[in-house]
Amino acid sequence: MQTSNQHDTQGAAHWAASQQQPRIAIIGAGMSGIAAIVKLNQAGYTDITVYEKSSRVGGTWRENTYPGLSCDIPSRWYSFSFALKADWSHRYSYGHDIQAYLESVAQDFDVNRHIRFNTPVRALVYEKPHWRLTTHSGEEFEFDIVISATGVLHHPAYPAIDGLESFAGARFHSARWNHDIDLAGKRVGVIGTGSTACQIVGAIAEETEELLVFQRTPHWMIPMPQIEYRKTWNRLMALLPPLRRMAYHFYKRIILHTFSEATIGNARMQKLITRACLKHLQDAVPDAQLREKLTPDYAATCKRLIVCSDYYPAVSRPDTHLITDNIRSIESEGVRTVDGALHKLDVLVLATGFDASAFILPTTVTGENGADLEQRWQGSPRAHRAVAIPDFPNFWMLEGPTGPVGNFSLITITEHQVDYIISMLDKMKSDHLAAIAPKRASFEAYNQSMGEAIKHTTWYTGGCDSWYIDDSGIPNLYPWSPLRYLKDMRNPDFSEYRLIHQ
Ligand code: NAP
Repeated sequence: MQTSNQHDTQGAAHWAASQQQPRIAIIGAGMSGIAAIVKLNQAGYTDITVYEKSSRVGGTWRENTYPGLSCDIPSRWYSFSFALKADWSHRYSYGHDIQAYLESVAQDFDVNRHIRFNTPVRALVYEKPHWRLTTHSGEEFEFDIVISATGVLHHPAYPAIDGLESFAGARFHSARWNHDIDLAGKRVGVIGTGSTACQIVGAIAEETEELLVFQRTPHWMIPMPQIEYRKTWNRLMALLPPLRRMAYHFYKRIILHTFSEATIGNARMQKLITRACLKHLQDAVPDAQLREKLTPDYAATCKRLIVCSDYYPAVSRPDTHLITDNIRSIESEGVRTVDGALHKLDVLVLATGFDASAFILPTTVTGENGADLEQRWQGSPRAHRAVAIPDFPNFWMLEGPTGPVGNFSLITITEHQVDYIISMLDKMKSDHLAAIAPKRASFEAYNQSMGEAIKHTTWYTGGCDSWYIDDSGIPNLYPWSPLRYLKDMRNPDFSEYRLIHQ
């Protein structure tokens, strides 16, 4: 087994007792991994090795390349607080601009020197007080701290539809876009009408010969107030960093006080959002029958609210067809719906979402006394404050289960989680601790209070089904204001943790 160059393990009990650098492994070099590397370095924790399965940084923004890919959170906020960019081209950036931003931050902060690219991790085993990390190729390394930065939505969910494999044309998931296929002159089918599908449909409708959109459930949608930034405005942003910071906080405040409030029981905000969505539908879709098909029968914000202005005009086109009969099967020629119709297709796009319960899985993670993470979760991932798990000491998660996700910037959440982990490392250092893990009682009390609070959210009461809901049928989300979460991350309560000396 190998160890980090900087660490001398000879005779040392553990890093904090021997006043050495902790050897930190980070799994994943997406947005969270980059935030962790930069902030840990800034806090003086520099012995960091990042294991990245692919050959580039970027995570979800590297993997998703579908037409129309953009971020429905304004970029002035969807940015690292330590690297506010002046010259975004649009208020809502396109995917390639965000990927370029992540790569430039990685470059500017000399992040790549920490990363082992093309090195997926197979297993993590806690061998008190260290973690043994095994890569897919069988190499083994020892670390003091492990941080999972694998993101939430990275395992494509393929629909369980009979005959999926038998389709004779080109078929691919939205996160595995096949750019070799020219859509011009083709009959293209898109299964799904979530945030991804809406962006795709808006982008490809003009190019395809005919576009068939298979809708199982209509989604609530507000328009995206997109603008292209003027060069003079961006020059001003470059000259005045406080202006960039003001813009960051402006969007953060607006979004946290609107969308997030609506989901956690603010009836006024809920009503405003519903009204805005209905007006969008009324204004953008002239055909009353089509409008009816596009009108959801559950509460707005129950599923993730879609922010998109291109979808309604695209489905209103004469060469686009919204199919609302459920899919019975897929055949070599196309999709057969329950009314018996066969919808012939050349290309089939599966915009059917992701497995939202995997997080770091299928990497096997084994904690104290052989505790197995997958068995522990059993399809219903739970964590303490979304970052830690009892019996898994010194194992931290960024964007872990039951955290605040939704219509706001996950970068802000991640940065606060990194700060929280740094507080834990500082505590280990000052108290010479071998390990920290949440107390089972704290974890259970926290999750119980979440379970009660979730009953007041629209995710629970809104009458929909979504990826927010796990195998237990309960939304796997933070049920209070994200601002409360950010505050808690800034003020760790160490009494919730076992502070382990040996
Ligand atoms: P999603 O929200 O889970 O939507 C999947 C779609 O596929 C739904 O319309 C679903 O129908 C449909 N579907 C799944 N299985 C099906 C089946 N067997 N038959 C028919 N339809 C089926 O996935 P997504 O659109 O990829 O979005 C996932 C998340 O990614 C979003 O919630 C968001 O967090 C993130 N995202 C963000 C942005 C952004 O701009 N920030 C953009 C894209 C995605 P039902 O609705 O009936 O389940």
